[in-house]
Amino acid sequence: MKLLLWSTPIGFLGSGAGGGVELTLINVAQGLMQRDHEITVLAPVGSAIGVQRLLNPAIAAAQDIQVLEVAGVAPASAQHQDRNSPVVIPAHSVLGSMGQKVLQMQGAFDAILNFAYDWLPLYLTPFLATPLAHVISMGSLSEVMDEAIAQVMDRFPQRIGVHSKAQSATFAGGDRCRCLGNGLDLSRYHFNPHPQPCLGWVGRITPEKGLEDAFAAVAQCQIPLKVWGALENPDYWQRLQAQYPQAPVTYGGFLPTTELQAQLGQCQGLLMTPRWLEAFGNVAMEALACGVPVIAYDRGGPSEIVRSGTTGWLVEPDSVAGLVAAVEHLPDLDRWACRQQAEAEYSLAALGDRYEQWLQAILADA
Ligand code: UDP
Repeated sequence: MKLLLWSTPIGFLGSGAGGGVELTLINVAQGLMQRDHEITVLAPVGSAIGVQRLLNPAIAAAQDIQVLEVAGVAPASAQHQDRNSPVVIPAHSVLGSMGQKVLQMQGAFDAILNFAYDWLPLYLTPFLATPLAHVISMGSLSEVMDEAIAQVMDRFPQRIGVHSKAQSATFAGGDRCRCLGNGLDLSRYHFNPHPQPCLGWVGRITPEKGLEDAFAAVAQCQIPLKVWGALENPDYWQRLQAQYPQAPVTYGGFLPTTELQAQLGQCQGLLMTPRWLEAFGNVAMEALACGVPVIAYDRGGPSEIVRSGTTGWLVEPDSVAGLVAAVEHLPDLDRWACRQQAEAEYSLAALGDRYEQWLQAILADA
């Protein structure tokens, strides 16, 4: 199949502004290319270089993914709006220009997969001759998005994909969503059997990720915490440092995948402390691939990833005491079991297979 992957307009691929969507799109592209599908990615300016950053340039896929770049102004991020906020499209909108490109180019593709959590692609669905399906990357956050998702599901039952059952349960009629999980290129993540005495926290530095609870936990247990991720909200980061001066936390920057996995692999465990319902949590899958157990709040995607007592600990949501107790029990876990879970459940081959089956169902229904 000739497939167009419509990326998020929030930032260029490799910028980190798109969070897990960036890696997800690249992994899906690779998984489908391994099955001989031709992939074109539509994404904001800067993405062609960004793909090289997300993928090691040595990987053949980095040359084979064709990236069409679109210029324009990014929208505001959905997770920082009120539930009843209207859709706002700025002047010179990159999303608007992407929509125009999709309308112009649709005839060159067998199907289009949209990864943008935005109203416009959902709205355009019935107006395209080429099947357009949507990989929804967040749980229910906004009335206008829920309505647009429901309208697509009503008319095209196959066209909404999600990452976890917990995520689909946030949408009315969500049992109709196709659960696609996620996957990664395991050859790029190396098993590390010899951790250093430190913990990791990985993600966009922004309040919905609940980083304050990780600060509070390590302030108590005094194990060094290394934080990696895009500094989305610098004021929030400053506030946390002022609030927890005794917490042994260092910031390691926003790293390309190859470096991130090398650093993450040195951690005894990964802390995941989201306040919101995490749709999946790519960082959990990445940690497991390096042999790093995951301590996560028991809600959303991580609840479906972590095998509590085997590949990490699921903790009562928002309980810092629960995090501290779980950290004490990290040595009980076998790091090889983590890697084995990643190999069994999150391989690129399995991901490509799930997406190919989904695409076949979409085309059969078109
Ligand atoms: N990430 C990265 N470099 C870093 C820290 C994080 O590339 O230094 C990526 C990580 O690989 C993951 C994404 O940021 O794909 C975070 O995604 P996740 O699904 O965990 O959360 P989201 O940001 O989508 O809410």
